[in-house]
Amino acid sequence: MKTKYVFDVDGTLTPSRGLIDPEFKAFFNAFCLFNDVYLVTGSDRDKTIEQVGEDTYNLCKRVYQCSGNDVWERDVNIRTNGWIIPTEVHQLLREFVRLSEFPIRAGNHIEERPGMVNFSIVGRNASLEQRAEYVAYDTRKKEREVLARIITNEFPDITATVGGETGIDIGQRGSDKSQILKDFGKSNRIHFYGDAIFEGGNDYPLAQALKKFQLGFSHRVTDWEDTFVKLEILESVQREEFE
Ligand SMILES: [Mg+2]
Repeated sequence: MKTKYVFDVDGTLTPSRGLIDPEFKAFFNAFCLFNDVYLVTGSDRDKTIEQVGEDTYNLCKRVYQCSGNDVWERDVNIRTNGWIIPTEVHQLLREFVRLSEFPIRAGNHIEERPGMVNFSIVGRNASLEQRAEYVAYDTRKKEREVLARIITNEFPDITATVGGETGIDIGQRGSDKSQILKDFGKSNRIHFYGDAIFEGGNDYPLAQALKKFQLGFSHRVTDWEDTFVKLEILESVQREEFE
């Protein structure tokens, strides 16, 4: 039985859309040398490399970009899902941008990535302040959860989950983070760390599938500092077992 460690990136290894902390990065690189580590994130490859650095990226066994729709081992592309968002779904998203009561529109609301779309009411071009305003609004109104549910109900072939701080990840049904499990055999025990393990969260489908198929365990974290603490505890246990 081989233990594999799978990590979300935004809000789990880094601040949302931000860079990894240098002290945590040094610790995490060492962790990657002694353990089989995989990343699974809604972001594309350029963004993840910017966030964690190429050295950390290349220490991972495999990186699942775009919720597993674009798969990489170091600089080698393993596979890419060619799905493109249907026109009717695109139209509905534009309606959401028009109708939301949130006042700011920063631009780049519908970002097409390999095999998926990242949708944001405030827009990917938002400043940190504008993003913070949206987070406060969304925490109050639960707008993203509501919109994700509308999309999923309206289009049975589409899956929509809340991801990162301001976005919704949209793709083909079944093309959420749980799709990565097809690469892991029954002989593996997976430990998955994510900050969005709640209903409607983009880590939830993978956490649910792990439980359902008894392939491992999920650890819900509050932020990257929480991941750091949990891994330090794990590492001290590993060291005791080794000694
Ligand atoms: Mg996250």
